[in-house]
This record gives sequence, C-alpha cells and structure tokens, in this order.
Amino acid sequence: MDSDLNLGLERRIGKRSAAVIEKHLGITTVGGLLNYFPRRYLNRGELTPISEVPLDEEVTLIARVVSSSTRAMRARRGSLTDVVISDDAGTGLPGTLKVSFFNGFRAKAELQPGRRAMFSGKVTRYGGSLGLTNPDFLLLDEDPDTPGMDPEKLAAMPIPVYPATAKLTSWSIQKVIATLLDTVELEVLPDPLPAEIAAREKFLPVADAYRLIHAPQTAPDWQRARDRFRYQEALVLQSALARRRAQLAAEEATARRPAADGLLTAFDRQLPFTLTAGQAAVGKTLAAELAQDSPMNRLLQGEVGSGKTIVALRAMLQVVDAGGQAALLAPTEVLAAQHFESIRRTLGPLSRDGLLGGFGPDAVQVTLLTGSMPTAARKQAMLDAASGTAGIVIGTHALLSDNVSFYDLGLIVVDEQHRFGVEQRDVLRSKASKPPHLLVMTATPIPRTVAMTVFGDLETSILDELPAGRAPITTHVVGLAEHPAWLGRLWSRSREEIDAGHQVYIVCPKIGTDDDGDFSPGEAEPSAADLEGENGARELASVTAVVEQLRDEPALAGVPVAPLHGRQDPVLKSETMTSFTANQTKVLVSTTVIEVGVDVHNATLMVILDADRFGISQLHQLRGRVGRGGLPGTCLLVTTLEQGHPSRRRLEAVAATTDGFELSQEDLKLRREGDILGASQSGGRSTLKLLRVLEHEDVIARARQDAWQIVGADPSLGAHPVLAGAIDEYLNPEKEAFLERG
Ligand code: ADP
Ligand code: MG
Repeated sequence: MDSDLNLGLERRIGKRSAAVIEKHLGITTVGGLLNYFPRRYLNRGELTPISEVPLDEEVTLIARVVSSSTRAMRARRGSLTDVVISDDAGTGLPGTLKVSFFNGFRAKAELQPGRRAMFSGKVTRYGGSLGLTNPDFLLLDEDPDTPGMDPEKLAAMPIPVYPATAKLTSWSIQKVIATLLDTVELEVLPDPLPAEIAAREKFLPVADAYRLIHAPQTAPDWQRARDRFRYQEALVLQSALARRRAQLAAEEATARRPAADGLLTAFDRQLPFTLTAGQAAVGKTLAAELAQDSPMNRLLQGEVGSGKTIVALRAMLQVVDAGGQAALLAPTEVLAAQHFESIRRTLGPLSRDGLLGGFGPDAVQVTLLTGSMPTAARKQAMLDAASGTAGIVIGTHALLSDNVSFYDLGLIVVDEQHRFGVEQRDVLRSKASKPPHLLVMTATPIPRTVAMTVFGDLETSILDELPAGRAPITTHVVGLAEHPAWLGRLWSRSREEIDAGHQVYIVCPKIGTDDDGDFSPGEAEPSAADLEGENGARELASVTAVVEQLRDEPALAGVPVAPLHGRQDPVLKSETMTSFTANQTKVLVSTTVIEVGVDVHNATLMVILDADRFGISQLHQLRGRVGRGGLPGTCLLVTTLEQGHPSRRRLEAVAATTDGFELSQEDLKLRREGDILGASQSGGRSTLKLLRVLEHEDVIARARQDAWQIVGADPSLGAHPVLAGAIDEYLNPEKEAFLERG
C-alpha cells in the first residue's frame, strides 16, 4: 500500500521525536505509531483508586497531594522530598502512596497539598506500604494543552494512557501522537474493512477512528473507535486463518482409503472393549477424511482418559493398510516411550519391531525414534523410517530434525500439544512429498475462541465422554499451614494404598535443592505460579530431597521408591517407568515429566507437594494420571500457604471440579492474556492489541464468519487488496511468531 502508513516517522513528526519514539518504543513508521493505541483512559475528573494500581509495572495514575516535606539526606549530598498522594474522593478509606523525589526541586515547588496531578512510574512495596520513586508528573489543574477550555467539558475529557516506559511517559507519547494526527493525511488512509461490513456495523470511518482513539473528547468517542479497531483486528486475524485453511484444503494429498480386510479390521476384531459412541463417531470422520485426496487438518480435543490414543491408532492403521506410514509425535521422551510400549501392547501380534523381525507380513513395524537413543539404534530407526520398513514411527521433536525422512508419510499425529503451532505443523508437513494428513490431539480443553484464534485453520472434533468403568477422582487441598501434622499423615495414607496393592505418585516442583525446576526443552514450561515472584521465600519440595526424606520415613519402610525427572539419563528414565508400570516400584517421586499421557492403571494416589507452584491446567493434567484403571483415584494438593492466599484459590478451584473445561476458563481468567497466546516469551508485548480472546467471543465469532465469506468468495483476496496487505503485515516474521507459539 502506498500510503502514509509505511512512511518513515521522521517525515511527519521530525527527526528528533522520531528518534525518541524509535529508541523507546521501537516504532519507525507512521502506521506503527498510529496503531500504538492507548491501553486505557483516565477520567480527568476522577482520582485513580490506588488499591487497584498494579505493582512493579509502569503505571499512570491521577491523585491528589496530601502533604509534602523536604529534608537533607544524611548519608550523601542532596535533598529528599516526600510527597503523600491520595485517591481520597471523600468516600470510604483513602488509599495513599508515598512518592519520593531525590533533589526534586520541581516536585517541591509544584506538588503542593490539594493539587491534582498525573503520575507515571513504577509502584513498588517498601515494607508494608506502597511507594513511587522519582516518578514523572504533570499537574492537571493547569494543563497547558487545554487553555481556555470549558471546565465541564474538560472534566469529561478522557486522558489516554499509553503503554509507557520508564523513560517515556504516557503524556509524552500522547503529545507526539497529537502532532502525528495533525500532519498525516488521515482522510486518504486505506481501510482494510470492506465497506459493507463497516456499514453494517455502523463503524466510524477510519480517519475519525484514529482521531478519536488517540484524542477523544468524551468516553463514547474512544469506545466507538476501539470497537472498530478491535473488529478490524479480529477480521485480519481470522482472514489470515481462513486463507491458510483455504490454501491447505486446496493442496493435494494422497487418499488413504480403508482396506477391506487389513490391519484395522483385524485390530477392531481383537479390541478388548467397545469404542465409546464418541470414539466411533470421530473414527468415522477421520476415516472419511483420510480417504480424500485433500489433506485432513484436524484437532481432536478430549478430556484426560477419554481414549484419544485408540482413535489415533485406528487412523494410523488405516493409513498403513493403504501403504503409507504414520508418525506419532509426543512432547516428551517419557511419553514417546510409553506410547511405544502401549501401542505395541495394544497391537499385540499385529505389531513387530525392527529387532525381532517377527510375526509375518501382516504385522506393522512400530519404531521408536528419539534424540537420546544410542546412535546405532537411532540410525537403524532412521533407516527404517526412510526405507518404509517402519509403518508407525513414534518419537519426540527429534522427528522434526532435518536428517529424519520418511518413505511415504501419510499421517502425522501430534499428541498432547496445545502449544504446537503453525510453524511446527509446517515442518512436519514438509516431511512428505505430498502434504500428509494431520491430527493434533489435546487433553487441555480449549475455550472456543482460543481454538478459533490459535487453531483457526484446523477442523475440530471433541471426545466428550469417558469410557465406561472410569472411576472418579477425588481431590483435596492439604493445608500444612493450619495442619502441620498432616505431612506425616500423607505418608501413612500412601502406605495404605500400597498395602492395598496400589501405587503412588509424588510430584514436586523442583528436581534438586539448588535448581529452578524441571524445565528442560520439550517438557513442561514454568507455570504462571513460577513466574509470579515470591521466589526463594521458602524451600520448595524437590525430587531428590523427598526421596531422601522418604528413605527415613517409618510409614514407608521397605517400600521401593524411585525418582524420575527430566535431567536423568534417558535409559534410566525408561527403566524407572518400566519398573513402575510393572508394579515393582511402588512410589514414583517425579517432576511434571508425568504430566501428560503417562498411563499406569494401578496408580491410585497422587500427592502433589507445593501444589501452589503449578497452574490450574497443569494440576488437572497431573491428577488425570490416577483413577485410570477402574480404581477410584485420589489427588492431594499439598500447600504451605495460608488459607485465603490468592494462590490457594487455584487449588480450591481444582479441588472443586473435575470439569476440565470449567477449569481452563478459570485458568485463563487468572492468567494474563499474553500467557494464553505465549506472548510472555516475546518480551512482554502482546501481539493482540485490542482483542481479548475470552472477553470478545462475539467479535471473534462475527469476524470469523465474515472472514470465511470473504475468503470463500475471493480466495486470493484480489478484490480486497487492503485487507490482504493488512494480513501480510500481521503475518510478518515477528507477528507470525504468535501463530507459532499457539
Ligand atoms: P487419553 O485421551 O487421555 O490419551 P488414552 O487414550 O490414554 O486417553 O486412554 C486411557 C485408557 O482408556 C487407556 O488405557 C485405554 O486403553 C482405555 N480405553 C480407551 N478407549 C476405551 C474404551 N472405549 N473402553 C474402555 N477403555 C478404553
Ligand atoms: Mg493420551
């Protein structure tokens, strides 16, 4: 697009301002700065409730000066001015904040008691009280930008608050943008929104919208402007996904039709149970899609234990029957190894492995291929994948590496990876000469709008019932703060399970006493709780310390206990899992390596130590490891936090329901938006500007419908050049990272 949007900022606001904006905000174009929207708006006539101001972030707030005093500093030269500000509007308990200035001559002169001012800085906690140090401030009663304005109008005029930095205040940004609005020809800016949609939604013209989002006279001004840009954002995103979907659907894949009497038929005949209605229905859908010559792109959501693996295995067998290969990708080596064992067990005589040769021509070779396998075995596995000898290849991300190739890859199944984004899917697709069929499975229930946003290019299936005979899981919060004696009770309770012939998981947030946890690549990422601070306040339970402790625990005398964590040698890990699966090890003390997929039917009790260190979804996933074999399961969430601590709320939420969908909603509410989409890893700037995936479900749904219609009628978007340009802009490398991280 040849408009001012791509113009260098210096051409419109001058070299000096442009340099400041680039330095602090990283923005270099007119469009970039125009689209730097306020995060919120302050009401000039109202004081900001101090109790609601977040800690340790750059904030902008309006307050009234209560008192001011200046004294010489004792230890060094200079003076200290302490100003107390308050949000006292004459009602309720006032919140106060101590603002300190070193050599604050302007503060001393201007911040007189009774004055109202806007402050910008980072609120921190000193001991028990809140404070701001050397903030920037602007007196509001004598705002130089609004000379001679009608006081009533002035009081109603919202003050935009921009995401500021320590060096660049919100009002400095506002000033620069005001200049920009005066110098850019807003009227000729191209509009990505099709005119029909703008008319239907009664949206502001794009020029007015830019003016009002940055310089509103009233609250409805910015609300209308924001509605438009929010919708625009949703439409661009959904159009990008719709276009991608259309492109995928237009690709040509190899049809893998069901065989009349192949492995799948034999497998179904030997299955020891009947498929649930959901498994049968999803199976039918998959069978039909695999038989088509356009690639299947499907997301399968199903609660923990809903039996996704069988569904995937049946699809893999159909592909093998049709002469193709299938790959199953697991997030961890432990899980890949488990899948390997359990799939071979489930297949029985229908499987053979590379070493034993085997059971005749009617069996499929199942091959494990992971990064840490001994070189010889790995080479053999790679050879088998490349030659087509291996019908089913199971592995971790190692399957993505360049030197792995397949003879004829027909289906890729990705297990338990809700963070498996577009980019990884593309790498896998490139492993076949024609695009393979793709099935992504997740047990983390994904709210509809998140699915639309992150997996908008996939079709969705849901398994919403558990196989019959699944026993319920009971979850309790064990508060050691109020009941320290319960710690001992945990071990005797474990002993009871073991004496009844069952097994126990003990989960710890850390591996050793001096590390930060088990976050090696491919394994669980730090939860929200880990990032939340209060680090080092207390010693967290670690795998090594707990194993030590249990050795001397009378209640568990003579009980085989084994540690399991991500830093162990893979051979040791797999031996440990084998021993636990065989009911030789009775107590497994581990990190979250067991979070997904691990399937030991005989385990009935899970004790999660320092459970407050884990996120809601993680806890839900973890407890799904017990109660799998028709035996009722118990999960104990152990915490040393006081009752009423906000992090205990998470535990209580998990204990209160086993409905994964409800929990994931709760989880999203407690996390910040950025975490949902993975923006926390991109340096804090959230890619979605105005959309909130939980709040704006209706906007996303409407935009999705519009996007599908537009792309359906005009797949190349030839008639919508501005929209196409906006999509490309959205999908530039930096932005694409957002889709990847999904
Ligand atoms: P998830 O969806 O969590 O991956 P799995 O596929 O691991 O669940 O299945 C959990 C357990 O349920 C497995 O042991 C599996 O053999 C068993 N299972 C799967 N489908 C059925 C069924 N229809 N009836 C009985 N048990 C089943
Ligand atoms: Mg599974």
